[in-house]
Amino acid sequence: RQTAIAAVTNYQPTVKPLNFAETSPTDVFGSNVFSDKVMKAMLPKEIYKSLMATKQAGEEMDPTIAGPIAAAMKEWAIAKGATHYTHVFYPLTGLTAEKHDGFLSPDGQGGAIAEFDGKLLIQGEPDASSFPSGGLRATFEARGYTAWDLTNPAYILENPNGTFLCIPTAFISWKGHALDKKTPLLRANQAINKAGRRFLSLFGNDDGNMVVSNAGPEQEYFLLDRNFYFARPDLMVCGRTLFGAKPAKGQELDDHYFGAIPRRVLSFMLEVERELYKLGVPVKTRHNEVAPGQFEIAPLYEQSNLATDHNQMIMTTLKSVAKRHGMACLLHEKPFAGINGSGKHLNYSLSTPTQGSLYSPGDTPAENMQFLAITAATIRAVEKYSKLLRSVVASAGNDHRLGANEAPPAIISIFLGGELAEIFNQIELGDLKGTEAKGMLRVGVDTLPPLPMDSGDRNRTSPFAFTGNRFEFRAVGSDQSIAGAQVALNTMMAESLDFVADEIEKITKGDASKLSAACQKVIQGIMKKHGHVVFNGDGYADAWQKEAAKRGLPNLKTTPDALPAMIEKDVIELFEKYSVLSADELHSRCEIYHEQYNQHIQTESQLVVKIAKTIILPAAMRYQGELAGTAANLKAAGVKAETPALSAITDLVGKLDKSIVALEKLMIKEDFKSIEEEAQYKTSKILPAMLDVRAVADTLEGEVADDLWPLPSYQEILFIK
Ligand code: ADP
Ligand code: MG
Repeated sequence: RQTAIAAVTNYQPTVKPLNFAETSPTDVFGSNVFSDKVMKAMLPKEIYKSLMATKQAGEEMDPTIAGPIAAAMKEWAIAKGATHYTHVFYPLTGLTAEKHDGFLSPDGQGGAIAEFDGKLLIQGEPDASSFPSGGLRATFEARGYTAWDLTNPAYILENPNGTFLCIPTAFISWKGHALDKKTPLLRANQAINKAGRRFLSLFGNDDGNMVVSNAGPEQEYFLLDRNFYFARPDLMVCGRTLFGAKPAKGQELDDHYFGAIPRRVLSFMLEVERELYKLGVPVKTRHNEVAPGQFEIAPLYEQSNLATDHNQMIMTTLKSVAKRHGMACLLHEKPFAGINGSGKHLNYSLSTPTQGSLYSPGDTPAENMQFLAITAATIRAVEKYSKLLRSVVASAGNDHRLGANEAPPAIISIFLGGELAEIFNQIELGDLKGTEAKGMLRVGVDTLPPLPMDSGDRNRTSPFAFTGNRFEFRAVGSDQSIAGAQVALNTMMAESLDFVADEIEKITKGDASKLSAACQKVIQGIMKKHGHVVFNGDGYADAWQKEAAKRGLPNLKTTPDALPAMIEKDVIELFEKYSVLSADELHSRCEIYHEQYNQHIQTESQLVVKIAKTIILPAAMRYQGELAGTAANLKAAGVKAETPALSAITDLVGKLDKSIVALEKLMIKEDFKSIEEEAQYKTSKILPAMLDVRAVADTLEGEVADDLWPLPSYQEILFIK
């Protein structure tokens, strides 16, 4: 531990930061992306046009364009120094996976040629049988394949150890089952486009453009010195501390939040930004977060599929650049007990290129009608599928955060802000005939009162908050892919927009003059049935837990409580109706996420035992020995002295031993009827027993002589930079 501290204080930065005086921003941004611009310059006109039709208008791809595109891609990549190409995919582990192939192939005459054609571009075959599939791939057909996602650009990754071309792909079983995070997102995007355009057409606003969903994920993370990281097996293996007493100074003073960024961190951030600019990731903001050692990076929002790939790149880049700066980046949702955890606020909107965000309140009565209808559809979706929304953010890590009075509670509700909530209230209460007389807002007739955009009173305790022209889903974990949340949101919204369209059509029967009255009626109906999901108060307060229960809102506190929602009847119907995920695919996902949860807790509990037995107990006993020696010496010298420290340590050593034995005993059980039962057992039995061990160990940290304590303390990890 002392060596770690010495190494940190002697650290010298080695990386030269990016500087726009020497390198112009336009030279950097997207320089490693096989972008539309590059393709336009390199591809025959017809091929480029055909590609754009698929990319921008969602038309089916003409397979003959793959050959010329592959040729151009190869030429471009090799000129940039690439030796290999890799199909990048996003398995259900939430990580980014790569399979590398060399461009070089022997030509059979002792030489070699660079080989990469349309066939190799379109389809790859990773030996990926060890990725989780939840029983979707029988072993004899264990190989899934990767399919080119041409909607996102290929790019070059430069590494000190080599440069390679990355091709974004979907990962699918031979029978066409989705084995990854991307495939259902692409399907959900199709669903929201179709339902979105139908909805817009009711208002005369379908102009042939696609309706897309957008995501602006704000990524939180912790940075610490690598010397501390390596001195903490819990951080290395689990990404979070399993032990560690609360520091004398934590985040109470709030002096880190938006404070000056430490120099070393700044040079790290500059390099992260440079790397991400090259990859065309539009990172925009950076600042300190609430906890010491915690930071945030946010890009400008982009269309969902691209934003999702980019968020994966952000996570990978944060980790790799941190290494180069002698630091470790933690993406875990709760690395330090008692200190704020990390989340990923997912800013979500639906838009078209001509209308912008459909969540922007309009200035005219006609615009207000469409805005209120889509917002009502959102309220309905979030209420109807609140358990689904909770389940897609469920993970062992996120359980430490949700409901810990720093992140939104596990209860899914919607914040609309006072003004908008009042409008929906009025619509709900207003009887149609009397509204005019009562001076209430009439949908499609009156203009909306001005709504504060991004107002200062932004409620940070709500899991799903309206922020002026978008919603912010705040329950996503920092370590999670944002794909799952968007798959759920887009599919829920497709269903809800279709519902609204159906109901409106039932009333108007094609008569446009009845549209505003129909909207008013439909919104009123939605508010009566689903309006109880709207909550503008303090989500951290105990009162909300009680109030939410009274309103009948689910409160799924843990991952094993939340995951089964994924395979409930209405959710399966929803996903099958929109061809986003089949019942089989949903069941496989639910199983995989349970397995991941169980595996996580299993690893953590094993490590708790190991660290307690081999690191903490020996330190405590060494100190106990020292104290006993002193006591014996004093006695021999005829000094009569009390030995309270010795009694305290002896007592704690005994307690630690007992708590370890208790945990080990619980860990023996293996005969579970199902993975669900195992997960429940891990939540209710193993996690509390781990905490019992930790409680004694953390007390010991305050008793044992500092020079004997082996693990870097919270204070050291969080404050030494
Ligand atoms: P704050 O911390 O105040 O919530 P940030 O600036 O850190 O705000 O992040 C806001 C995120 O929301 C950014 O990624 C931004 O691009 C994104 N965003 C802004 N408008 C929209 C929109 N219409 N749809 C989706 N995301 C949006
Ligand atoms: Mg923010």
